[in-house]
Order: sequence, then structure tokens, then C-alpha cells
Amino acid sequence: MLIRVLPEDVAAKIAAGEVVERPVSVVKELVENALDAGATEIIVETVEAGKRLIEVADNGCGISYEELPLAIARFATSKLRTADDLFNIRTLGFRGEALASIAAVSRLTLISCPPNAEHGGRIVVQGGKVETYEPAGVPLGTVVRVEDLFYNVPARLKFLKQDTTERNLVNALISRYAIAYPEVRFRLIHDGKVFLQTYGHGNRREILAAYYGVDIARQMLEVIFEESELSIQGFTSPIALTRSNRKDITFFVNGRWVQDTTLTSALLQAYHTMLMVGRYPIAMLLIWIEPEVVDVNVHPTKAEVRFRQPERVFSAVQRAVRRALLSQPTSIHIVPSAWSSGASHQSIDLAGQMATNHDETAPRDAQEIPRTPEDLASNSLSTRFQQTTLPGAHIPLLRLVGQVGATYLVAEGPDGLYLIDQHAAHERVLFERLMHERDRGLTIQPLLNPQPFRVPSVRLEEFYHYITLLQQWGFEIEPFGGDTFLIRAVPAVLR
Ligand code: ADP
Ligand code: MG
Repeated sequence: MLIRVLPEDVAAKIAAGEVVERPVSVVKELVENALDAGATEIIVETVEAGKRLIEVADNGCGISYEELPLAIARFATSKLRTADDLFNIRTLGFRGEALASIAAVSRLTLISCPPNAEHGGRIVVQGGKVETYEPAGVPLGTVVRVEDLFYNVPARLKFLKQDTTERNLVNALISRYAIAYPEVRFRLIHDGKVFLQTYGHGNRREILAAYYGVDIARQMLEVIFEESELSIQGFTSPIALTRSNRKDITFFVNGRWVQDTTLTSALLQAYHTMLMVGRYPIAMLLIWIEPEVVDVNVHPTKAEVRFRQPERVFSAVQRAVRRALLSQPTSIHIVPSAWSSGASHQSIDLAGQMATNHDETAPRDAQEIPRTPEDLASNSLSTRFQQTTLPGAHIPLLRLVGQVGATYLVAEGPDGLYLIDQHAAHERVLFERLMHERDRGLTIQPLLNPQPFRVPSVRLEEFYHYITLLQQWGFEIEPFGGDTFLIRAVPAVLR
């Protein structure tokens, strides 16, 4: 085999492959460019999940007509001069290859006008070749249109997931940047519909609510930490609010979204012993540290970083999160009445316990779970769901000792000490009841007053995806305009 230098267009496609994996990678690069340009308003629009069109418009510093061809050239950047600058990066971009990479695998239009310029300009590149380059009277700021992404890389196109999945990735990205930059107004539009809108008021919790819903946003604990030149801000979930995966754990380092497993494990260690196996918190943490001690030039997507003193950062994350968790009013709160009253003479049947409890309300968060052993005892001892409800798991009769942190039941059984996660037990009981019901034929309970509820707009698509399934399980749900729905009936077992 002869060794030869690859033709320019092949090299460009290979390089592009590292930066542009899917629509969300394009959105990320363009949004980062807009932020680097000092924009206070960023509008992101996609058509067909970004496969047809991705457009990002900003009101930042713009690019002069003369510099447009440079902006789309490889290794052309205004953010770096010397190799030494690499260790003092204060911008999100610096590699000068994003626009070139995107232009190599799409049809890219760059329209821009800096303030004080006589006119702006427009340049169109297709598959890396300039097609149009002309002066234009355009508004201040920059618009980047990316059409027909991967039209010349069919293999990549085939690897893309369903539109819903690709759009959800964009939703997750924009909402995280919106939380990280609360003073910037973001608007996200899919196929002409606004999915997320923030107002630049600087209120992070408000933006959390737009993405996660008001309920979760309200529960999230604030993280504030400062030590020498390292500060951490953000939110982390209380121990009762968890997810089954790590997707809702987000770190920003100096304003950049990074994926770093070691930061994640520092976070998880802060929760050590407080979470069940397989459960993860929701967290959004923004770390600010001297740029000299972070190497951001690890990967073309800039999603990884290296710290000069990793232990310093991990320990700070751990302590910051611990502190937030401990400041939470209900954490590690022992109910003293457990030892004082007659409760200690009662026996409890765990499964029946939870089931009975559920007949009255539908407790979801710690506040509504019975708080004292007396509460528990008073409506306990239902035998309906004894052993049979937990196939394979033979739970003996337990003597209730107390309750910790409104989260764990402490009990004594033949083998010794039992710690029972109330939420998990409760969920399991509901699950068993539902499965049992299904086998016998679901009973549906119509509601006297239909209950309205709202779905955060970025979650609407996901919700529509599951609505049929919910209907099969006995929920009658109908749209009530916009992001509001009415529940008309529920499975009787969950009434
Ligand atoms: P990098 O961001 O690493 O410098 P890019 O390829 O993303 O590389 O962008 C190249 C250059 O184009 C940037 O350095 C910047 O000068 C200019 N540029 C790109 N997008 C914008 C924008 N939205 N507003 C102003 N200038 C931009
Ligand atoms: Mg860039």
C-alpha cells in the first residue's frame, strides 16, 4: 500500500466526523459561538429534528463581511493566538473548526453584521465549497442556517435516532445552557412551535421549572460554595427525588457543559448511603475555577476537561453538595415518638401498611408519607397484600422501631435490623396492585371533577409518546389546549 496525503475534502469530512455527530452537536457549537459573541438573545430553530434545518440567530458582536470566508475556514478563530493561550481559555470555542466542520457536511449559510459596519454579508457553503459570497443589508448579529445536515454522509444520517430522540437531545442541551446563562434570553422552536422560552431575568429556578416542571423545580436544593478561587453554584435534588439514570446530572465548568464521570462520582459520593442502589440525583452544578488549571483541549467536542488538581475540584463538589443536602429540613430527622409511645408494641406488615396508606391519598413526596409510627399503626394491619404481593420476597412480620428522615422505616425482624425505603416500598406495592388488577381486568374510576395538569412544553412530545400506554392502563386523558390536559378517569386501584 502506498501512503498518500488525503484529498482536502476527505480530510475535512473525517475531521467533521469528530465534531458533528448529530443535530445536537451542531446546535451546541452554534450556541457556544453565539455566547462567545456576547449575545443576550439566542433563537434556535429546527425543522425535522434538525435534519432539514438548524438555525441559530443571535444579537452578538457579528462577523465583518471581509472575515466571513475566514469564519468558515478550518483552524480559523478569533479566540486564540498562540499555543500558550490554550491554557488560559476564557471562551467556549478556540479550535476554529466548528463552522468548517459543519460546512463540510451540510449546506451552511452565514449571515452577519457587526455594529458600526457599513453593511453585513452573506456566505453560502455547500459540502465545504463556497457558492455565494456577497454584501447584504442584514440586522445586527449573526444567523447561521444549516440545511440538509449529512446530505453527503449517508452513513451518518442512518445512525440518527428517531426525530423525538434527536429533538429531546436538543431540548436537554438548550435548557441546560439556559440554566447556566440565565441572563441570556433563549428561545427554542421545533417545526414552528416554541418549546422553551426564557426571559433573561437571571432566575435559574424559573428556568428549571420550565424544563422539569414547577414541582421538581421547587424541591431542588440550592448549592452555593466558595473557596479560594473555586466556586460552585446550582441545584441538586433532595434524597427523595431521584431518577433511574444519570442523564439529569449536569456539570458546567467555566460556562462550558462537560461530561465528566469523575465529577459525577464526586456528586454521587456526596449522596453516599442516602440513595438506593440504581437511583441517581438530578443535579445542575456550575463550577467556576481559574482557567489556567483546566485543560479544555482534550477532545474536539470540548465536552471533556482535565483539572490540574482533580482532588481539589472533587472534594469541593462533594462538600458543596453535602452541605446543600444537610441544610434540607427533613434530612436525617429522627422521629422521637417512635420510642415513647405504644408503637413499639405493634407489629407491622409492610406491604399491607403501604397499601392501606395509599387508599387515602396518593403520597408522592416525603411530606405526604405518614410521618410517625402512630400514623402508620393507625391505618395498618391490612392483610390484603401480605406475602402474596411480593412474590419471592418473603418478608416476615416486623416490629416497627421508628422512622428516619421521613424516608426510611426502621424495623426489627427475626434476622435483625431492617431499613425500609418507604418510597420504594410504596411504589412496589402500587406496582403489584396494578399488575394484579390487570390480570383480573382493570377497573376504571371516572373522576367527578376532571383534574387538569400541565406538561412542561419540552416534555410534551415525550408525553404524547406515552399517552396511549397510559390509556391502556386506565388513565383517560384528553388535551385541554396548549400544554394542559384533563384526567377524566384513573385506574381504580390508584384512586
Ligand atoms: P471557534 O469558535 O473555535 O473560534 P468556529 O468555527 O466555531 O471556531 O468559529 C470561527 C470564528 O467565527 C470564531 O472564532 C468567531 O470569530 C466567528 N464566529 C462564529 N460564530 C459567530 C457568531 N455567532 N458571532 C460572532 N462571531 C462568530
Ligand atoms: Mg465555535
